[in-house]
Amino acid sequence: MSEETFKKCVYVVLFLLIAIFFTKDIPFFGSKFYRDVTEVENPKDLIVLVNKNYKLKEDYIPPDLEQISLNYATDEKYMRKDAKEAFERLSEDARQMGYQIVATSTYRSYEYQEKLYDYYVQMKGKDYADSCSARPGHSEHQTGLAVDVMGSNQDYDLFEEANEFEWMKNNAHKYGFILRYPSGKEQITGFKYEPWHYRYVGKEVAKIIYENNWTLEEYKNL
Ligand SMILES: [Zn+2]
Repeated sequence: MSEETFKKCVYVVLFLLIAIFFTKDIPFFGSKFYRDVTEVENPKDLIVLVNKNYKLKEDYIPPDLEQISLNYATDEKYMRKDAKEAFERLSEDARQMGYQIVATSTYRSYEYQEKLYDYYVQMKGKDYADSCSARPGHSEHQTGLAVDVMGSNQDYDLFEEANEFEWMKNNAHKYGFILRYPSGKEQITGFKYEPWHYRYVGKEVAKIIYENNWTLEEYKNL
């Protein structure tokens, strides 16, 4: 091997080592989720972050759950006081304009989420369960600040096709709600696009998130 070729080899090896050093911690899609899980310290905070890396304690039950009026929910549904009042205003104002926005799923206990997740695991395996459901403690529904809605087409799964979706996109933030799992942000939120899932964060924060086209993770700079 000539001295020239040897030098080239050394440079290539050095380059590879440097490249490996700087890229070894970059998480690939999916790999950062459910790793290095931290327990949430401030579960009552209205802008609390619960996701695949931040977990609520098994015994956490929100302190001020109130039942949503049956005018705006499919049956007995509970949310925290501020979120519940804001949702009722949203749903009522929408109704005045001819829209029908109804809560189908709101507060869910740790135990309920555990059953739901296990049901998906038993039905189609863990990968499938992770693709459509949160593991217990990792669901925002346990905060009492999240709501799944359905529109006049009566199917939350098809909410995107309902007339109400466009209205929600433009108005939910005025009541303190954000579309929590937007399309194209799956690598940040860890959840697939869910046009039906909204999260109460209060009007001020919702406005900032809406105007910047952020997720809650981006707002919190995590
Ligand atoms: Zn949901």
